[in-house]
Order: sequence, then structure tokens, then C-alpha cells
Amino acid sequence: MRSGTNLPRVGGYNQAVVLDAIRTKGPVSRVELGPLTGLTNQTVSNVVRRLLDEGLIAESGRAPSSGGKRRTLLVPRADGAYALGVHLDPDAAVIALVDLAGSVLLSRRLALPRPSVPGEVVDKVARAALRLPERAAIDRGRLLGLGIASPGPIDTEAGTVVDPPNFDGWTCVPLLDMFAKATGMPVAMDNDATAAAIGERWIGGKERAGGFLFLYMGAGIGAGIMLNGQTLRGDSGNAGEIGHAQIEAGGRLCDCGSNGCLGPNCNPAALVDDLFTLHGRAAARRIGLSGGPEAVRADWKLLRRAVRAGDPAACDVVRLAGRRMGQAVRGAVALLDVSRVVLGGEALVGVEHVLSEEIDAAVNNTSVTRALGRVTVERSLIGETAGAVGAASLVLHGRYAPGWRMLTETRE
Ligand SMILES: [Zn+2]
Repeated sequence: MRSGTNLPRVGGYNQAVVLDAIRTKGPVSRVELGPLTGLTNQTVSNVVRRLLDEGLIAESGRAPSSGGKRRTLLVPRADGAYALGVHLDPDAAVIALVDLAGSVLLSRRLALPRPSVPGEVVDKVARAALRLPERAAIDRGRLLGLGIASPGPIDTEAGTVVDPPNFDGWTCVPLLDMFAKATGMPVAMDNDATAAAIGERWIGGKERAGGFLFLYMGAGIGAGIMLNGQTLRGDSGNAGEIGHAQIEAGGRLCDCGSNGCLGPNCNPAALVDDLFTLHGRAAARRIGLSGGPEAVRADWKLLRRAVRAGDPAACDVVRLAGRRMGQAVRGAVALLDVSRVVLGGEALVGVEHVLSEEIDAAVNNTSVTRALGRVTVERSLIGETAGAVGAASLVLHGRYAPGWRMLTETRE
């Protein structure tokens, strides 16, 4: 838990510290907030008053008496603030309207043409996004802005996507400014895996306090890293490119020029290809796969369905993917000392249980820290809309989670 500061002119930061403590430890009383935040009782009392006035928290019941006066408990208010989130993938944009508690009020999936033109995509997505607050009839004054989760790498300083895989012709596109112009709202942007990790931290509350590695799969594979409740971004803002971790297997050539990367040996296209290569056309026909680059999304969905139905060939291929992910995750866990690995993203839905068994074995059977406790491997609390909810959380988290960035800069 981050401590607050009693210096003047950092009210926004203290507000974020107190709100974060109420969200992640709550319901709590004012008395408990002092030790949790490192703030004096007087400061806590002032900040709580401000949060109540702004409608971000509410008083809810009283703690059982321990002799003295019963203490009033504080809880966050879901309707205190809202944000829009957009997750861009090569085939589709998923848009979500999220409240302060992290609940999705409305969401929409827009199919995108391939290849797509950035300006046309931004216009179409912005128009669809702006309709959601209207349809949900929320207080527009409480809508904070729009977050974008885009495949990496991205240039966080310039607000551009650099050269995302499978977005032909999207080189150094200034998405942040384009969306700000198209919506007239403050806009935040991060890569999809980091956004998903931030969403998980925001929505997970108590269950996701501390550190974890979020292994994310959309069209590609990436990781978001949370250490001591803070996002690890790295010098260029692209920490977590676990798709380029070296593993022993595959041999497929990666965009980066190497042929031992996790990504091209573990993404949906590779797993469909593995099924054809390792189990033959008869198994592919049984599952209903058609093969070819145009059918990857549909084939991967069928393959996951076959895993859930217990098809041995489908299970074998996904287990193999789990072992490959395990090699990369094992290295990351050893390096970062996180006690939790979370699996999420649209492309992993329904097969997390198979992958998590293999990843669990890889990280726990030979870990040097196993005497201190097992690393838990579990599925995301967000589910299918992890990217879009993560994108919306960029806005909520940026505004209301305590972090170094808040004290030094505001990007609005
Ligand atoms: Zn690579």
C-alpha cells in the first residue's frame, strides 16, 4: 500500500491514496485509514469529506462496536465516475463503458475491415463510443475520458502506435491525438497487455493488491507487469513484450527477426497450424477447422471449443502451448519475484484451465523460492472484455490510483 504525504498542494494525490485504500481494503472506517495510508487523522478526515462531497465514496453501515462509539464504514461509489475503453485488434474494436467499480454498463464489438485505414477506424469507433454514455443515460459530467488499448509496441510519449502486427500500413499512427480530436475528451493509451493488467488491478481490488504478471493473448501474446501495486512500464514504455522471450521450440520466424520467440510459436495462428502438422487433416476435419490466414479467428474458436469437449488432439496442442508459455513465464517470475500469474484476453477464454496447469508446473516444480510459497496461476477476473475494460481503467487508474506520475505530470 502506497503512503500518502502530509505536504501541502498534493491533495489530489492524497485523495487517490485514500480512495485506493477504500477500494482495495474496504469497507473501512476513518480510524483504520490512518495506518493504511500513513496520513494523520486530520488529513484523512479532510480527504474523506472531499471524496464524499465529490460523490466518489459513500458511508455504508457501521463497524461492530469494540467498546466505544461504533465507527462509520466507507465504501466506493460505483456511479462516482465513468470511463470509456476501446480495445483495438486487427479484426475488431471492442468498446466498453465502465463505472468506478469496474462494472461494464454497456459494450459493443465493431468488426473492422482488413486492411483498415486509421482515420476511418478512429471516426467509426469514436462515433460508436460516444453513443454508449447516451444509451446508458449516465451523468455526462462524471465521464472522465476514453482509454485505448492497442497492440504494442507503442510510443507512450508521442501517443503513437509504432508498427502493430497485422495492422498493414499503420506505421507511427498518432492514435492518442486522433481520438482526442474525434471525441473531444481526455484520452489515455497503453499497450493491450499493460492495459489489461491495470484493469485487473483496478477491478480485482483486494484480490489483486500487490504484484502479478498478466499473460495476455489477443491476436498476439504479451504481458502486463504489476509490482507492489504499481505498473512496470520500462524505459520506452514497452515492458512485458514476453512474446519475444526465447523458448526452445517452434522455429517459426518472428517479426523481430529471431526464430525462437514465444509469440509466433504460441499465437492462435501457430496453434491452429500445430494441430494440422501434429495431428493431421482428419483431426482438423473432426474439429471443423478450415485452415488458412483468413480463418484463424474462427478456427481458434473451434479449437478452444474442442478442448472444452475433451478432444485429445485439441487438448494436446493447447497443452503444448501451455508448456511453451511456461518456459517464458518461469523466467519472468524468477526475474520479477511476483507471487501470482493471471491469464486473460479474449483469445484465452475457455482454455485457461489447461494452460494454467502447464504454466503452474513450469513455475512451481523447479522454483528456488518454492519453500516460501507457491506462485498461483489463475484466470483473469475480467474475462472476455479484458482489453476494453483495461483501456477504460487506464483513465480511472490514471485519475484515481496513487502513483508517481500523478505527482509529476498530468496528461489532459
Ligand atoms: Zn520476436
